[in-house]
Amino acid sequence: MSAYPWPVGKRAAVMISIDVDADTPLLWRTRAEPEMRFIAELEQRQHGLRHGLKALQDVLARHQTAATFFVPALVAERAPTLLPALISAGHEVGLHGYAHETVREVSDAEFTAALERSIRIFEAQTGKTPRGFRAPGWEMTAHMLAEIARFGLYDSSLAGLDWPYTLGKITEIPISWAREDTARFKLTGLADRWPPTGPDQVLAEWIFDYEATAADGGLFVLTLHDWIAGRPAQLRVLDALLSRIRADEATWIATGAALAEYHRAQSLPGFAVPHR
Ligand SMILES: [Zn+2]
Repeated sequence: MSAYPWPVGKRAAVMISIDVDADTPLLWRTRAEPEMRFIAELEQRQHGLRHGLKALQDVLARHQTAATFFVPALVAERAPTLLPALISAGHEVGLHGYAHETVREVSDAEFTAALERSIRIFEAQTGKTPRGFRAPGWEMTAHMLAEIARFGLYDSSLAGLDWPYTLGKITEIPISWAREDTARFKLTGLADRWPPTGPDQVLAEWIFDYEATAADGGLFVLTLHDWIAGRPAQLRVLDALLSRIRADEATWIATGAALAEYHRAQSLPGFAVPHR
């Protein structure tokens, strides 16, 4: 059983996070090519900003649930009403790279430039400094952690514990690959490495995971994507999962920023940033 000191009356926590990747991973992957030769994948990815994101927000609103949306700044730049609309609906917006750069493909200097540029765009569009960061592809370097700390951001990309923890100077709100939608539902062509899983099976797995995590006093972070989770069957999974979670009064449903702020106030011992 986790000994994490949740707020009075609460025994576990849930964070619903939505990564608004849209077409940025595809644009990043093909950035050296002069012509877009992936119209089919591009169309799949357009679904999020065209409709999926709105449908996801409708499900969240029905369950009075505030979520955290991690948005590449390039997406925000091209859809300038997106961040203000999410904030006015009661959600949190967090950083997710500028162009969804992946860690192996950018230098330390390029990461810093993308982070600073993204923060400026978020501040210009929302009038507020973002509080959280999520690494594209959930991989990080020591340089990235140091830069996240320099801007006082929490991170939500690592999975070293089943509840919030401190890594170096960073507050970590841990994710889980088992509670992520692309590994279950993404199918952009028959060359994809895994077959999609049936939505009913995923719902059963996520409810099983939630109940185990809640019984253990942990934090259940769900990660969805705008272009994957806004389809009818996937919306039904989220709807049913939120119905189950909201039946537990002792579960705290919180944004990443609320969890990070709470964690910092606990002053618990942390862990050193790993190095070779
Ligand atoms: Zn992403």
